[in-house]
Amino acid sequence: EERMRRGLPTKRLIRGVKRVIAVASGKGGVGKSTTAVNLALAVSSFKKNVGILDADIFGPSIPRLMNLKGEPNIVESNGNLIPLVNYGVKAMSMGFMVGEESPIVWRGLMVMKALQQLLHQVHWDELDLLVIDMPPGTGDTQLTISQQIELSGVVIVSTPQDIALIDAKKGANMFSKVSVPILGIIQNMSTFICPNCQHQNYIFGKDGTNKVAKDLNIDFLGDIPLDADICDLSDLGKPIVVAKPDSIYAKGYKDIALKV
Ligand code: ADP
Repeated sequence: EERMRRGLPTKRLIRGVKRVIAVASGKGGVGKSTTAVNLALAVSSFKKNVGILDADIFGPSIPRLMNLKGEPNIVESNGNLIPLVNYGVKAMSMGFMVGEESPIVWRGLMVMKALQQLLHQVHWDELDLLVIDMPPGTGDTQLTISQQIELSGVVIVSTPQDIALIDAKKGANMFSKVSVPILGIIQNMSTFICPNCQHQNYIFGKDGTNKVAKDLNIDFLGDIPLDADICDLSDLGKPIVVAKPDSIYAKGYKDIALKV
């Protein structure tokens, strides 16, 4: 009501979903989708009903990462999309509607229409948690989701290079402006642990993300090292949390899942 009085759009819950968390990043390629998928699977491993929504209309990664393809079925009575399921997690993505190598060439209006359908016309049934994999940056999609959906909060993913951190800060500031709680920041690919000698090499610097967390007064949720398995298995559609559940990496995602 307060929002209506101030002329702001009212935020809606997603039907059947208890909590919605967005995973965001300032830049592309920092590991946002990989993190979103592994977090969803980590929460699911705690016997929760989890879904993942791919909000990246132009560059959907969830079909590949979750090893899912094919057109979703539709609920006859209302036309809602039925999510595909793998590893016990439900998923919805624009990528199910178009081929992996077909570009979507759309203007803003079409993108917003597709986004509305993904946000409000998916038959999630009952979920404890929906993870939204945001597109990178601070554009229309991020704003629309922040203003329309009652988010429990947003998790920001960054690598520790200055160039990624500057954009991560921008992202965090945008979410603060639209009153979305920031659950914290995850540092990805900071260190490489040599599989032979266990030596740690901080390829992109060590403390950058921690420093940003302090500057912005937000929680530092954890650190996921750079690991060849994470990359190779992702490409194969076998996220590390399910492919190597006993690895330190899977444990890292599960530790973070307990904090969000
Ligand atoms: P974004 O969603 O930010 O664009 P992705 O999740 O698609 O990033 O990751 C970009 C690339 O980096 C992918 O090839 C992915 O497999 C790889 N990657 C992500 N996190 C890690 C990691 N911790 N170790 C190794 N490779 C990673």
